[in-house]
Amino acid sequence: MQLYCESLTEYKRLPTKEVKIGDLLLGNFNPIRIQTMTTTDTMDTLATVEQSIRCIEAGAELVRITAPSKKEAENLLNIKNELRRRGYHTPLVADIHFTPNAAEIAARIVEKVRVNPGNYVDKKKFELIEYSDADYAEEIDRIVDRFTPLIRICKEYGTAMRIGTNHGSLSDRIMSRYGDTPMGMVESAMEFLRIARNERYHNIVLSMKSSNPQVMVQAYRLLIKSMFDEFGECYPLHLGVTEAGDGEDGRIKSAIGIGTLLEDGLGDTIRVSLTEDPELEIPVCKDIVKRYTQSTEKPQSYLPASPVIHLRNSPFDYKRRETFAVNNIGEHHVPVVIADLTKLQSITSKDLQSVGYTYDAKTDKWTIADTAADYIFTGHTVLDFDLPGTLKVIVYPAAWMMAEDKTKYFPIFDDMGYVKSDVKSDELNFVMIDCSKDDTSDLGYLDSFANDPSVVLCLSSTNKNAMQSVRRFFNELIDRNIKNPAVLIVDSSWHTADEHLIHFATEAGALLLDGMGDGVCLDMTSTVYSTFDANVSGRRYSSPVGESRTAAEQFINNTAFSILQATRTRISKTEYISCPSCGRTLFDLQETTAKIRSVTNHLKGVKIAIMGCIVNGPGEMADADFGYVGSGPGKITLYKGKEIVKRNVPSEIAVEELINLLKENDVWIEQQVLIS
Ligand code: SF4
Repeated sequence: MQLYCESLTEYKRLPTKEVKIGDLLLGNFNPIRIQTMTTTDTMDTLATVEQSIRCIEAGAELVRITAPSKKEAENLLNIKNELRRRGYHTPLVADIHFTPNAAEIAARIVEKVRVNPGNYVDKKKFELIEYSDADYAEEIDRIVDRFTPLIRICKEYGTAMRIGTNHGSLSDRIMSRYGDTPMGMVESAMEFLRIARNERYHNIVLSMKSSNPQVMVQAYRLLIKSMFDEFGECYPLHLGVTEAGDGEDGRIKSAIGIGTLLEDGLGDTIRVSLTEDPELEIPVCKDIVKRYTQSTEKPQSYLPASPVIHLRNSPFDYKRRETFAVNNIGEHHVPVVIADLTKLQSITSKDLQSVGYTYDAKTDKWTIADTAADYIFTGHTVLDFDLPGTLKVIVYPAAWMMAEDKTKYFPIFDDMGYVKSDVKSDELNFVMIDCSKDDTSDLGYLDSFANDPSVVLCLSSTNKNAMQSVRRFFNELIDRNIKNPAVLIVDSSWHTADEHLIHFATEAGALLLDGMGDGVCLDMTSTVYSTFDANVSGRRYSSPVGESRTAAEQFINNTAFSILQATRTRISKTEYISCPSCGRTLFDLQETTAKIRSVTNHLKGVKIAIMGCIVNGPGEMADADFGYVGSGPGKITLYKGKEIVKRNVPSEIAVEELINLLKENDVWIEQQVLIS
């Protein structure tokens, strides 16, 4: 095994132990299982049964139900019996936080229990206490005493267990020794896993969730390495990004985190946590998983398993690949977005609205959105109107020769085309490289332009293992000490908006999370743009430009910015961390999230958490700047970071109070537009 996965050049599942959940087998090369969690009150048997059925009929292979106390745990029996009476035998999972007594009841009823090692025994107080080795060992003994009875019940009843670590709810003990790091998350689970193994109980699945895909990916990789190092074997993995939010952003964040791991063959079951009805999570799960089970129209060539490569950047830490800057690309610049407009028959100033530039003929001014593309690619076309100040154009060499303003237009070549061309820009040339080739020893041509200060590389691959082949090429660049910036060219041959979204997020996100890529350019080859239906999971794409022919460009442009935001490589909008809701939720999360978004979505870079309950919300809102947390029926508590600043605010005025809080902390700005 190389560090954390079976292969870095092709999709290859990681072998794991096999876990039995009722009649369902998980891990050990069984299909990647799809699951979700109900949002109803667990005491409302009928509502929970009916929602579970909607999830099962949508395709859920496991349904999780919260059991916050003994009475909900006991009611799982009624829910299970009613489901079985209606002919549904899908395994049920009890979700436990804080309450071992509820877990011990649930483990006798349902097929699986999920415990959070951050709060199963420990009560989090957000105190950074110094633990001596003796104190620490004493705490572990306390966990053994409290956790062992549950293990014994699970063994007796054949119940499976998930040890589910959350980045936001690590115990004070773990925080004091490791901080809220991926290593802290891993150790939190390993403590529980060691206890279970000592009891010879192995029916275990593990998860390492975070709302930050980068932290989540690093934690899963470290967990695998830790399990192999310590036990020589790996337990199945449940993948998920917590509090991902809703709509396109929620889907993109989830696809980046889950997809990055699946690309490397890691993951045996997935849950996409959206602030939407749980049955809507299932089609997203299916779209993510089918990439590994269905063939696409992509050429079916595979990278050979050898030569074996090793990652030059550590997969456990983020480090951006070192580059020099060419114009505004590379080095310390945020990754650029290039919009490919070559599918438009003719390009007018109005078309640029789809990529963030709105022209007002009356004032002869451009309004520039936060998510305005940095470059457009127009192929053979030189535009016949003046461009907004911040926008530049990439064209083929013949068109570049015709363009008058060489400060605005830059040529793009294929690799040998650049080597042979007599005419080049002094400032910026784009050079396309196909990374699909099997043989990395045949890259001598790179020497012709390696470290040429005017060259930006554009890396693409038509290989079945496209991400892996581009990653391998990045390794080559690092090995050869080539520091030209590189743009990721990602093409999707899928069909629906959801499929494209997941494809882009997975392929580009996996590289960006590992510090590879100084820009992105997305394209949907198989899609006719003029008939493109920009619906994401049945929801109309959020900001139509009015012209259906440019909806595809707008969809792609927004997707590119959302991927950069989710990988935290370029922040261009407000970030929302909203929990998916569950039986503990104290207000209508979907409606409230929409309301808060509508008044704060211009606060670029501010992270706002919207959490359904005070029991888990504060712990799980991770690194949010501000929190809006349900603290009782009709009551909201507002947080600045982890600190309570307004307690039990009536919900009717809570959004207003949140705005006041943002103003008091100088992060509120009135809506404004950039004019060129
Ligand atoms: S934070 Fe949200 S999902 Fe988590 S327990 Fe509370 S209400 Fe449920």
